[in-house]
Amino acid sequence: MTDPATGLQEKLRLLAESYAAKLPDKIDQIDQMWRQLQAEWNEEGLQALHRTVHSLAGSGKTFGFAEISVVAHDLEGILKGIMKLKTPASEQQCAQVQKKIEDLRQAASHASPVQRAVSAPAKTTATAAVSRGLKQVFVVDDDHEVAQELALQLRHFGYEVRVFNRLDNFRLAVKQTPDVIVLMDIDFPEDRLAGVKAMKEVQQERVAPVPVIFISAYDDLASRLGAVRAGSRAYFTKPVNPGELIDELDALTSSQPQQPFRVLIVDDSAAMLAYHSAVLEQAGMLVSSVSDPMKIMGTLLEFDPDLILMDIYMPECDGIELAKVIRQLGGFVGIPIVYLSAEKDFDKQLDAISFGGDDFLVKPIEPQHLVSAVASRIERTRLLRSYMVRDSLTGLLNHTSIKDQLSREVARAHRLKTPLAFAMLDIDFFKKVNDSYGHSAGDRVIKSLSRLLKQRLRETDIVGRYGGEEFAVILTGTDGPAAVKVLDSIREAFSRLLHLSEDKEFSVNLSCGVADIAHFGDEITIGDAADKALYQAKQAGRNQVVLAQP
Ligand code: GH3
Ligand code: MG
Ligand code: MG
Repeated sequence: MTDPATGLQEKLRLLAESYAAKLPDKIDQIDQMWRQLQAEWNEEGLQALHRTVHSLAGSGKTFGFAEISVVAHDLEGILKGIMKLKTPASEQQCAQVQKKIEDLRQAASHASPVQRAVSAPAKTTATAAVSRGLKQVFVVDDDHEVAQELALQLRHFGYEVRVFNRLDNFRLAVKQTPDVIVLMDIDFPEDRLAGVKAMKEVQQERVAPVPVIFISAYDDLASRLGAVRAGSRAYFTKPVNPGELIDELDALTSSQPQQPFRVLIVDDSAAMLAYHSAVLEQAGMLVSSVSDPMKIMGTLLEFDPDLILMDIYMPECDGIELAKVIRQLGGFVGIPIVYLSAEKDFDKQLDAISFGGDDFLVKPIEPQHLVSAVASRIERTRLLRSYMVRDSLTGLLNHTSIKDQLSREVARAHRLKTPLAFAMLDIDFFKKVNDSYGHSAGDRVIKSLSRLLKQRLRETDIVGRYGGEEFAVILTGTDGPAAVKVLDSIREAFSRLLHLSEDKEFSVNLSCGVADIAHFGDEITIGDAADKALYQAKQAGRNQVVLAQP
């Protein structure tokens, strides 16, 4: 396997080669445009020429043709001067332009790119140490009973658990298990800090650190410090509250971006598109590109990007105008728009940002810098958006968002001709839970159902808290009968969970109604049908799943 840095370097080298091969044509084109202007002077022609030269200055530098870039930049300056005057070029200016075009030809004839060493940007998503699918947990504790008890609780929430009472067994097993989360005790018979020491050794042998949570009877600084140094993500003191521990594990297994970052690049230069796509794709992002700004609408809707990387000077409509248009489209008010341009004029940059852009990156940009600028913007936007669309108790989508998602998914399913089911779930006799065990016990029950739904459903399914103790699930690519099966297994698992309130144990059931788009074609009728089916489930004695019949 080639290492990623070499792979990227090679790709960029090939792109630079093909760019070099096209340079003479590009300069011919500039020459041609200039001749036409002289034959018939016009503003648009001059602007087009300026754009072409500006783009050459930027792309030349990106691909390592420094001389081309410098000459093109000079020429751009002369053209700008002419544009300001709004009159045909003077004789002296004509001579200057002619000279620079000749210089460009000269530079192109002996152009060879200066290879910039690139280091492959770190993967932003796919190979992150903890991915969402990861559910394997090692519990390491010399106290057999404590460990077994903990394992039992975790298994209820879909975690696959192995218990180790001895460190040597754990060391062997962890070597053979790449994706795992470790729950580690600190004090073992052989040493008061043996757990910390073992973890440190394990971490040293790994490229990416193993996520570890320490669980200890001690709460002193030495133990906590040791834990941090051994890479701890969290520290719990015994006796552990299983709810809190599971929250932490859930956060660990879902804190990574669930979906690769999606970037839309808008640039009229095919060479620049290819270059920036290669860099971002290398970092694990999904890239879609648009070279004709007039075609952006379709791609925006289809591709649904997290961020737009926008060139400024383009024919027909420039990047700043395009940003304004996008801001006025429903649903894209919040999308980050980052300009990527060779524009060095600070006032121009500020202008661009004040008209709906979020940031300004100047070409040429180092691969690593491009990746981190894009990734950090997307991460923050996703986080902020999650605060707006998520319910604070469960972290699930809130009422409004799940309804938005339903209408989106119904439209998508019709377009792709794929099945889709919608389910409404409601906890049975929940009032009694609150009355008998208190409101906070009720809250814990709601959280446990939310966890169970997240654990048991696929990543492509969409889960929301519809209201109080009511939940809604969109099952993509799933027909009614298949959805009923899945939800019935969740119903069954939920009814087996034991909830604790002080010293009392209790269990709770739920009822569920399911409808699918084969029989209920739009978001209103499918929602009503699922609601009616839920009502039927309640009427028929609760603790069951009912499929809506047309
Ligand atoms: P049914 O089987 O018919 O659904 O009976 P139920 O008691 O579950 O139904 P009902 O809708 O009458 O009661 C729901 C109760 O859920 C009422 C409300 O106090 C409680 N509830 C709503 N939201 C929350 C919450 O966030 N936390 C807690 N603890 N209770 C909540
Ligand atoms: Mg209820
Ligand atoms: Mg209710």
